[in-house]
Amino acid sequence: MMRLLKGKTVVNHEIPELKAQVSRLRADDVEPTLAVIMAGKDPASELYLKAQKKMAVRIGIRQQNYFLPSNASQESFLSLIRELNQDSKIHAILVELPLPAHLDENLVTQTISADKDVDGMTDVNIGRLWRGTSVIAPATAAGIMTLLHAYRIQISGHFVVIVGRSQIVGRPLSALMLRENATVVIAHSHTHDLKDLTRQADILITDIGIPKLITSDMVKKESVIVDVGINRARGRLCGDVDFERVAPLVHAITPVPGGVGPVTVISLMQQVIDLARRQYGR
Ligand code: NAD
Repeated sequence: MMRLLKGKTVVNHEIPELKAQVSRLRADDVEPTLAVIMAGKDPASELYLKAQKKMAVRIGIRQQNYFLPSNASQESFLSLIRELNQDSKIHAILVELPLPAHLDENLVTQTISADKDVDGMTDVNIGRLWRGTSVIAPATAAGIMTLLHAYRIQISGHFVVIVGRSQIVGRPLSALMLRENATVVIAHSHTHDLKDLTRQADILITDIGIPKLITSDMVKKESVIVDVGINRARGRLCGDVDFERVAPLVHAITPVPGGVGPVTVISLMQQVIDLARRQYGR
């Protein structure tokens, strides 16, 4: 029988554990604190920020938001990050992307101290991730692993196909999967014969941004499908996978919305706790 991999179930399962970790830190006078910087207005970032704030309150993490105007200068942005890097009460820094076009996204993210880079965007943390010496990864990639672990999906030895090579999903996720002994292939817009690959996948993860690109003839029977895409088609939200036709064929699949999205936020909070703990040598 097909299993629906619901994000909310995972979140409800994880919350007590995260609360307990925060309580232990607070008992040692450490108040785990996340600083979030946002420049200008972006509806998707505003929604993400709202979800973060709600989750932070539930778990007991302090979240400080910094709003900069859309015309904020590069120097003012960088000097805020440098200030937060030095502030011992701030354990984690997140910059909401995308940034207004005049700001250099790479320079901004690389200015965050690697020890406070909660979304694993600095070159140092990307290197650590590939070396296997760090647990910090972009929250969506980390969230996918949390989801698969929570539902006890076997990863070791399985053939994992990730469609999409973004910095926040495809690339870091391939490192996380390798670390857990999967055989990993990343497909993308230049891949020849996508179907030939996806049909072999024991676990198929899609981060494409094209509604229902993955059809029922592109999946392996009894496989596991994680659909990261959040797209709008005919006024309704849908993923990259044709859910109605694919779901009856597979062992497990995430819904959109309600799959990976909610778990992303809980994974971000787990990484805030991990960074706070590490900064206090715990
Ligand atoms: P992106 O443009 O950075 O990446 C899209 C990827 O899809 C690229 O690597 C591209 O090569 C690949 N691609 C495009 N067309 C293809 C095709 N025909 N065949 C194979 N590969 C193809 O986009 P993104 O920012 O990673 O977003 C992708 C989707 O994921 C969007 O729907 C977005 O809303 C969603 N998303 C969801 C979350 C979440 O938390 N659930 C987080 C990030 C992104």
